Amino acid sequence: MAAEMMSSFIFSGPLTWTVEAACQGQTRLFFAPAGERPEARVVRESQARAVCKACPALQECRDWARAHREYGFWGAESEEERAAAGFRVDMPVGRVARYPRGNGEPVAPRESRIA
Ligand code: SF4
Repeated sequence: MAAEMMSSFIFSGPLTWTVEAACQGQTRLFFAPAGERPEARVVRESQARAVCKACPALQECRDWARAHREYGFWGAESEEERAAAGFRVDMPVGRVARYPRGNGEPVAPRESRIA
C-alpha cells in the first residue's frame, strides 16, 4: 500500500485529531521509562503538560484517553489525574492502583494502608 494511502487510512477515522498533535516525536515525555523515580516523573510530566497546554488537539486527546482508559500522559492528564476523574486504567500499578475503576465521575482515592 502506498504511504499516502496508508496515512489517509490511519488519519481519516476517530484519530483524525492526532494529525495536529504537538507531542509528535516526543514520546519519551509521555510514557514512563522502566523504574522511573517519583522525582523524575514529576519533571517529565511537567514537561509533557507544557507541550499539551499548547496543543490544538488537547480536548479530543483527553476525551480519547479517558474513553479508552489509556496508559501514559494524554491531554494534559497523568494516569493518576485520569483515575481521579473516574477513568482509571484497567491494570493499574503504584499510585494509580489506589483508585477505584470509576464510572466516568470523579472518585476519591482509596485510603492508604500505612498509618
Ligand atoms: S494534548 Fe498532549 S498528549 Fe494529546 S496530542 Fe496534544 S500534546 Fe499530545
